[in-house]
Amino acid sequence: MKLSKSKYCEIWQCPKIAWMKKYRAEEEVIDDSARQRMESGRIVGEYARHLFGENFIDVTVTDTDGQSLNLPAMVTNTREAMESGAETICEAAFAYNNMYCAVDILRKENGGYVIYEVKSATEENPIYYADVAYQKYVLGHCGVNVTGSHLVYLNNEYVFDGTLRLNELFCISDDLDTTEEESKIEDVIASAEEIIDTDSEPDIDLNIGCKKPYDCSFFAYCSRNLPKPSVFNLYRQSFSKKLDYYYQNKISYFDLVNEPTIKSKINRMQIDHIINKTEITINKKEISKFLEQMTFPLYFVDFETMQPVIPEFIGTKPYAQIPFQYSLHICTDYDESHMIHREFLAESGTDPRRAFAESICRDIPMDVNSVVYNKAFEQTRLKELAETFPDLSEHLNNIGDHIIDLLVPFSQGNLYTTEMGGSFSIKSVLPALYPDDPKLNYHNLDGVHNGTEAMTVFPKICSMSPEEQAKTRHNLLKYCELDTYAMVKVWQYLLKSVR
Ligand code: SF4
Repeated sequence: MKLSKSKYCEIWQCPKIAWMKKYRAEEEVIDDSARQRMESGRIVGEYARHLFGENFIDVTVTDTDGQSLNLPAMVTNTREAMESGAETICEAAFAYNNMYCAVDILRKENGGYVIYEVKSATEENPIYYADVAYQKYVLGHCGVNVTGSHLVYLNNEYVFDGTLRLNELFCISDDLDTTEEESKIEDVIASAEEIIDTDSEPDIDLNIGCKKPYDCSFFAYCSRNLPKPSVFNLYRQSFSKKLDYYYQNKISYFDLVNEPTIKSKINRMQIDHIINKTEITINKKEISKFLEQMTFPLYFVDFETMQPVIPEFIGTKPYAQIPFQYSLHICTDYDESHMIHREFLAESGTDPRRAFAESICRDIPMDVNSVVYNKAFEQTRLKELAETFPDLSEHLNNIGDHIIDLLVPFSQGNLYTTEMGGSFSIKSVLPALYPDDPKLNYHNLDGVHNGTEAMTVFPKICSMSPEEQAKTRHNLLKYCELDTYAMVKVWQYLLKSVR
């Protein structure tokens, strides 16, 4: 078995991941957020290599495909760089037996070499210790005197003031004590080898590694034989709690029906719906109470944001949510044909915040009811904009103070259908309420189908051809428009349900 540091970390998380990648790679489901995390990691790595100045050697060599790394060449380059006395080597590569690793940044310090492992996260995670321990193990066996190891991660308190200061953007951890992790390496590798060298599927059950540090991309495959729905569909239960039930063989909702520790109203509703074959639960009294506060005109609004990992705009932090688009459906009465649609989409490649804030203040007057889905998100963005633009703060705060959250009837269980499956995002609620309406189907949209796709594509528009720009902007507008139209339809459904 050839072992890289990322494969070692996968094995550390769950040995079956490496087996799946070798024998069932086609089962891997890499979602948009995983792709985004990888891209963030790449960007952060690019910036971090300048952390110790410009006098560094990057030993990366790629094969002719430009994608895969040419490790033998990198190992040779690393050796030559060390022999020449280089102070900072990026992607310093080492190989020992079948193990190899590329150190993000290797620095000549303390009479030896210090490992700097770069992470795009803003806080530490136990798997990082395993990662660094593995690197120390390989380097140690290659005869390198490792005199320290540190994590380099993003400082979530860093505020960009117009000049990017890498020494403030990045935090460097204290010297890592990886003794415990180092002591496990040979056992971890030996047991993994046994698993990976045989083509029969390992008998490894679902475990905490399925969700830590991130959702495992093979979860759909490994959970394929579970009843549907299962304990893993319970709303707002922690994964470790779900695993506890699972290990006690309380897996289907029939197994859970008499479980006294499941008390949440929504969880009970999820289970009862399946047991009693109930299709829909409607609490007319509570829904009516909710609807009474919605007085015309109603402004159904939805924001799209991007999250630059490296702050680009003054006053923002790493991963700040930057609003660049909104859609607005204005209902002056119950007649849909009277509905007005407004929208805003900033110019890609610019700071969109001022134009966004001015536009929304033009489109939504003070003291009217704005309707959003999951209000914490929009309210927080409005508050941030109000802090950034004091001259607009009264208006922006007023919009935020008059928000009605359309999620509430669902998250409180006042309207629940089995089809929602314990998820109350608009993407789950809408098809549950309108299963056969193609106009309300996000899959029928071109190019942009969810918020992650929107935030990924928007910053790229500025480098597209004019034709691509027009098409992508159109796709973004259509996507966001559906979000607010969906909210109008959800509201109409609530109205109908209490008649
Ligand atoms: S889903 Fe869980 S059991 Fe399956 S490979 Fe991933 S971590 Fe292992």
